[in-house]
Amino acid sequence: MPKFGVYSDYDLRANNEIKDNIRCVVCQEKLYCRWTDQHGEGVCLTCETPYMLIQYDENKKRIEAPPAINIKEQYIPVLQEYWQKFKRPMGFGYYLGKNPSEKNLRTFAKWKGEKRENQNHQNPAQE
Ligand SMILES: [Zn+2]
Repeated sequence: MPKFGVYSDYDLRANNEIKDNIRCVVCQEKLYCRWTDQHGEGVCLTCETPYMLIQYDENKKRIEAPPAINIKEQYIPVLQEYWQKFKRPMGFGYYLGKNPSEKNLRTFAKWKGEKRENQNHQNPAQE
């Protein structure tokens, strides 16, 4: 389990918020998370997809709800494709002002950029 130089397991207390036995939408592993710097957000320890673990209604009242993936719906298949191909974490989730997985984020961003370029070449009429 990652510690990121922190003395306590505070980052892993995010798991106290996951009440149900659910699987990550991207990597399909049982969802375990660490906190990020965004309030209520955790990232999957396996693939680093972000989830809102603490959620509120429109009146800012806390609601009980299963973890909700914190990625725009149209990008979910992109993350799934990346995971299927490389089985490599995507590097989302800053913690204490740093990204403990920055190298993974750079690798993912590079792949995503190249993928977009290839798509543009194949479909010059689009975008
Ligand atoms: Zn995952």
